[in-house]
Amino acid sequence: NVADFDVPTRPDDLDWSEHFPEFLQEWRDRQQQQQQQQEAGAAAGPSSSETPAVRFVDIGCGFGGLLVKLSTIYPDTLMLGMEIRDKVSAYVRERIAALRREQPGSYRNASVLRTNAMKYLPNYFKKGQLTKMFFLFPDPHFKAANHRRRIINTHLLTEYAHLLAPGGWLYTISDVPELGEWMKAKLEAHPLFERVSEEELEADPAAGLLALSSEEGQKVARNGGATYRNVYRRLAAPRKV
Ligand code: SAM
Repeated sequence: NVADFDVPTRPDDLDWSEHFPEFLQEWRDRQQQQQQQQEAGAAAGPSSSETPAVRFVDIGCGFGGLLVKLSTIYPDTLMLGMEIRDKVSAYVRERIAALRREQPGSYRNASVLRTNAMKYLPNYFKKGQLTKMFFLFPDPHFKAANHRRRIINTHLLTEYAHLLAPGGWLYTISDVPELGEWMKAKLEAHPLFERVSEEELEADPAAGLLALSSEEGQKVARNGGATYRNVYRRLAAPRKV
């Protein structure tokens, strides 16, 4: 049953320590330690008191291939896969739990939850909270009548822009030429996004993962298929289009 999952009314209602228990406990311990040092008059450096929040999301994460790669590349960043299929999200949850058991100290920053990302993202995240959003090989919905179901569309791009911090990146890739073109056209036409240059993509560890890290990407590569990558930056202010 697709509707069979809890959705928080607002982001503050969600207890993220269920997703990132060790990561957040360690952060709390460090905060406490710094506070004690300050109280004891020891010269501690300036401390940030903001609780760590999810910064990266992998929308329609499938079996989680991208997430587990990103997790070790960005060990200090909290990241979340969002997947609508119950069994698939359960698989990813178990995959991450197994990796955490096998490699203590690693993968504590990655988690997954089951949800409909086309409906509920603002229930999970606050304005400007995210710095990277990934859309790898989204469902093409070929028929014109179903284009409104595409996860990249003008209306949803406005929502993604709301959740992304200015300067944050939105990554897309597809092996379907028509969908690649569609995503590019929608992003190109949106006043809150601008295309990231090839030079910047070269220097970005995450951009290099798009084609081959996820299960769908690996399947496409095995079959020798071409891919269409479009990565855009969230602007601080709307540009003229
Ligand atoms: N990104 C993964 C990869 O590259 O291997 C999976 C790609 S698969 C073609 C698309 C995934 O998006 C599926 O796992 C599907 O269940 C998920 N999905 C589709 N609509 C969704 C929605 N509204 N919210 C969350 N996930 C969704």
